[in-house]
Amino acid sequence: MALEKHLLSKSAFIRGLQCHKSLFLYRHYPQLRDPIPAERQAVFQRGTNIGFMARDLFPGGTDASPKNVRHYSESVEKTKLLIDSGVEVIYEAAFQSERVLAALDILVKKDGKWYGYEVKSSSRITPSHILDASLQYFVITQSLPLEDFFLVHLNTDYRRKGAIEPHALFRMISVRNKALAKQDMIGEQINNQKEVLNLAQAPDIPIGEQCFSPYPCDFIGHCWKGVPEDSVFNLGGIRKSELFAMYNTGICRISDIKEETVFNGEVQIQLDALRSQKPLIDKKKISGFLSEIQYPLFFLDFETTMPAVPLYENTHPYQHLPFQYSLHYKKDKHSELEHVEFLAETHVDPRKSFLLSLLKHTEGWGDILVYYATFERSILNALKKDFPEYGTEIDKRLARIRDLIIPFSDHMYYDPAMKGSSSIKNVLPALVPGFSYDGLKITNGNVAMTVYEQLRSENDLFVQEEMRESLLAYCKMDTLAMVKIFEVLENVAG
Ligand code: SF4
Repeated sequence: MALEKHLLSKSAFIRGLQCHKSLFLYRHYPQLRDPIPAERQAVFQRGTNIGFMARDLFPGGTDASPKNVRHYSESVEKTKLLIDSGVEVIYEAAFQSERVLAALDILVKKDGKWYGYEVKSSSRITPSHILDASLQYFVITQSLPLEDFFLVHLNTDYRRKGAIEPHALFRMISVRNKALAKQDMIGEQINNQKEVLNLAQAPDIPIGEQCFSPYPCDFIGHCWKGVPEDSVFNLGGIRKSELFAMYNTGICRISDIKEETVFNGEVQIQLDALRSQKPLIDKKKISGFLSEIQYPLFFLDFETTMPAVPLYENTHPYQHLPFQYSLHYKKDKHSELEHVEFLAETHVDPRKSFLLSLLKHTEGWGDILVYYATFERSILNALKKDFPEYGTEIDKRLARIRDLIIPFSDHMYYDPAMKGSSSIKNVLPALVPGFSYDGLKITNGNVAMTVYEQLRSENDLFVQEEMRESLLAYCKMDTLAMVKIFEVLENVAG
């Protein structure tokens, strides 16, 4: 008898744990989902690739994947046949129970007992992973006893030396006891979720913290469309839970907040600026900030990539590898703006060429302005460890770094158009109207990272060139934005 089609898959179940409305919409109105951004697609693809790589932990297995992902029942039947015929290592083993489907990355039989291995592309195990494993354990053990169940994740202590060593690259953590402790809850949730799927309409669930946790929901475009432009969510410095509490009691717009309500300094600055519809500018503090910055000035920004599986010698999983920078230079306040840049070749370790070029371009003296210095400092410190022979020169650059975010993160300058954020993407259009990242193919660092990774597999030279042009244009915009912002600060300080 053919297997009845499953009602719940593992991903649908995890979605349902986050929000029942999301589960309902996913099943009945999938067309309402937000488009998947390229960087999220890249994360999914990374997960698939690492799943394949982890098979080397148990080589020689048989793949039970279905030919078409819509036909997982084939996979369930194939898994059963493989088990019955004595196969001892099965990849993508699929099980179904109570119309819940769970596919497992690797199923292994050792000394007559079965062990489950689920691979995660992350560097640590999260509570969501445990829930995910608990569902798999629930479904699989309805038909096959498991001696143990492991989550497999990337080991960030691993340093690549020569070929990848799977047993050093991955860590296997037994989570059977944790999964066992959750079995009753899983059973109840499955029943609840099946009821949700049978509802005539979507459950009435207001927007809340669940929209972003543990994963950003892909129905935000649908559920949040009634949220006004000037909503309380544009206030920075308040816990999300408090913002949702306000919103769900009818204080939706910032203008709905009563004047007499008292907030901490950061929030009050935002409210005062909004109510006066003028930026709040502390000229004295800005002058103090500028007085510590000396021309000539370098405006610098890095882009990095973080390969999950180390591509180069002596690197570890998810190590930030700088591959690009943009540098604007001004000898003095009135001199011409100059620009240099660096973008590494794609198939080589970018670190050393990046470092040598940067040291050359920043020779001499003059402050180096970056936006959110923690990041650039951490990259330079990591380069110092990797290339200790350049330690003295790197230290000289570190000593010259100044952080342009400070006037905004310390509320010396707040414009309502910044919408509660000191990110350069918010500060730039607020301070320099009409100057923004709109129109660029790459508009944030995550996309830049994804494009650089995609360059590795792009064979078309014209497309490669276009991608490199987009990367250069984006990074150049970051440092040009800093120049413009700095000019505004100089002007307001007189
Ligand atoms: S956007 Fe929020 S409320 Fe809407 S389905 Fe997603 S998690 Fe639920």
